Amino acid sequence: MTNKLPTTIAIAGAGLLGRLLAWQLQKSGIQVTLFESGSFTPDTPQTNRAAAFTAAGMVAPLSEAVVSDEGVYRMGVFALQQWPSWFAQLPATETPLFFNNGSLVVAHHQDTSELEQFERELGFVLPGCKGYHHVNQHEIHQLEPDLHSNFHTGLFLSEEGHVNNREFMRLIGDELFRIGTKIRELTPVDVFPGKIVTDSSEEHFDLVIDCRGLGAKKQLRNLRGVRGETLHVETKEIHLQRPVRLMHPRYQLYVVPKPNHRFMIGATQIESEDRSPMTLQSSLELSSALYTLSPAFAEARIIEMDTNLRPAFMDNLPKVDVQDGLIVANGLFRHGYLLAPAVVENVLAHIFNKPEPLFSSLLNQH
Ligand SMILES: Cc1cc2nc3c(=O)[nH]c(=O)nc-3n(C[C@H](O)[C@H](O)[C@H](O)COP(=O)(O)OP(=O)(O)OC[C@H]3O[C@@H](n4cnc5c(N)ncnc54)[C@H](O)[C@@H]3O)c2cc1C
Repeated sequence: MTNKLPTTIAIAGAGLLGRLLAWQLQKSGIQVTLFESGSFTPDTPQTNRAAAFTAAGMVAPLSEAVVSDEGVYRMGVFALQQWPSWFAQLPATETPLFFNNGSLVVAHHQDTSELEQFERELGFVLPGCKGYHHVNQHEIHQLEPDLHSNFHTGLFLSEEGHVNNREFMRLIGDELFRIGTKIRELTPVDVFPGKIVTDSSEEHFDLVIDCRGLGAKKQLRNLRGVRGETLHVETKEIHLQRPVRLMHPRYQLYVVPKPNHRFMIGATQIESEDRSPMTLQSSLELSSALYTLSPAFAEARIIEMDTNLRPAFMDNLPKVDVQDGLIVANGLFRHGYLLAPAVVENVLAHIFNKPEPLFSSLLNQH
């Protein structure tokens, strides 16, 4: 990056990273133009909407450390501090945008080896980790009285949280309009240093930031999509205070409580870039696993099935590439809400010429 501060910035992609960066940059006095190929306010599942709308919104550094590494854990711990401070800067909402009630990991009696394996893997990635404790049947019942009474053992990860993500995406969208960000929806773009190319124009900016997620695949070698399917159900019969993960030898399910008696159940993780609707097999696996968490889910109404692709590099780790006139931030995989705060802070530090951008050793390596 040159030392001169940009006065005009174009951001390609109004998903999670695009909205967060546009918000921070516009607030700092820079004129931001945000280009989005789809609708800026997609309220129903549609092909090509941001993965940020499909996500469960969990901010789960320990649970995710098990499938990644210590760097992801450190960035996730940063996210747990950053999200609440960002939300405090947004208008108040009826339902909170962030819940920090921890998360609960359980397994049926015959699958306790899966729980032990989860703990072993956690200990391998984070030796001596103290961020969780074992819970017995009574403690599980105290934490989540509506869960099936046959869970005898589990792990309580008290520091994890989750974002009310669709509400957040809507709210930050409104805020971007309010503070004067130029929003250009239904405008797919190609990105170049200092230049955005649309179907009908070529526009110049001091800096371009590429936040197109999987939409950048044509230009980013090694970027791939990883299919994820989710189910949304609604019921007043059961209440959960926190995400619950069910360890199972064939599939792992999580259920995340959402406002208005809704629950999101996810997610499959399939090496495929097929965005077509959920398969029968996935719907059976997700719904039968859900039913074993509590028979009270039997009467829940299925209100949505969603499919999307997680943008991932070969190592499943995020990257921020800084060139003259162009910054590319991508590869958040299944960790968008977990890692976006670290990625955003890193990008901002480069733009504002901070001497030691946060998480540089993790994000800026190539
Ligand atoms: C099923 C599922 C569950 C998930 N659960 C979680 C979770 O619990 N916790 C967590 O931390 N993460 C989760 N994630 C991951 C998270 O959603 C992603 O990592 C995150 O959304 C990536 O953010 P992004 O801004 O890079 O991409 P996106 O959010 O996908 O946004 C990219 C945007 O760019 C736009 N775009 C694409 N091409 C163009 C173009 N040519 N021109 C203009 N605009 C373009 C797209 O329309 C989109 O709006 C989940 C993902 C899935 C699929």
